Amino acid sequence: MLTTNIFWLSEIDVVCHLDLLKLVDILNVTLYPNIVKSLGGYEAAEHLLSKLRALLPKTNVKPMRIEHVYRKLEFTREKMIVDKHCYNAECTNLMADGRLARCGPGAYAHLHPDAPREFCESKDMFYDLKSDKRDFWHWKHQWPLDACAYCNHFQAIKSPWKVEKGVLRKKRYESDYKMRIADRLAEAGAWAQAGRIYLAIAEETGPDSLVYGKISEAYRNLGQPVLAEKFLNLSRKVSNVETAQGDCAESHVV
Ligand code: SF4
Repeated sequence: MLTTNIFWLSEIDVVCHLDLLKLVDILNVTLYPNIVKSLGGYEAAEHLLSKLRALLPKTNVKPMRIEHVYRKLEFTREKMIVDKHCYNAECTNLMADGRLARCGPGAYAHLHPDAPREFCESKDMFYDLKSDKRDFWHWKHQWPLDACAYCNHFQAIKSPWKVEKGVLRKKRYESDYKMRIADRLAEAGAWAQAGRIYLAIAEETGPDSLVYGKISEAYRNLGQPVLAEKFLNLSRKVSNVETAQGDCAESHVV
């Protein structure tokens, strides 16, 4: 069983993650208003889910709409007494580097500007599948974690939805993530899939010499030299502009 809020879902991602998703019997999908909005609304999210269902006939895709309230999560530097169980402690996250994290807030605390050092340096949060010598059962069931004393999520305080000012979705992280997937596909020789993702990244992020270079490489490996050349030229052109802008910025600093 896998639980996701589908923040990562798009037409491309459905295909990219297919091999992984085929391993899942039940896919619990929590639909939060802000994430649904960033996907293009409920109709767009439902369209992506129906695509998932069509490609994964053996997987039970179970969406659940969260409408108005959410459980608050605030960090503190003052140590609290943890007197309730936090359901999030059962939401184990598998990280890209092979570590497991007991909960989502702990897994991604390094991206949160307000997460205190005491929380981020938790010894109980992570388990490294490659090298950890601790007893796994004990790690998985330990409660509370040292980090919980600095995070009020266990208090289960209900809070109405509010969207904070700023970027709804962290585009840069998403592009980096997609780039890593595409690079892995390219390494595995899946150039058609990799090329599609590079093209999608270029569409989202605009001119970028590195991305154009990768698109060119994909076309070359797909036996399309004309398109490969076209993107190589684009890559060179953008690279010249990037260098000129860099020089300009440096001369201003001087
Ligand atoms: S209280 Fe905070 S740190 Fe502890 S499990 Fe819940 S979300 Fe994670």
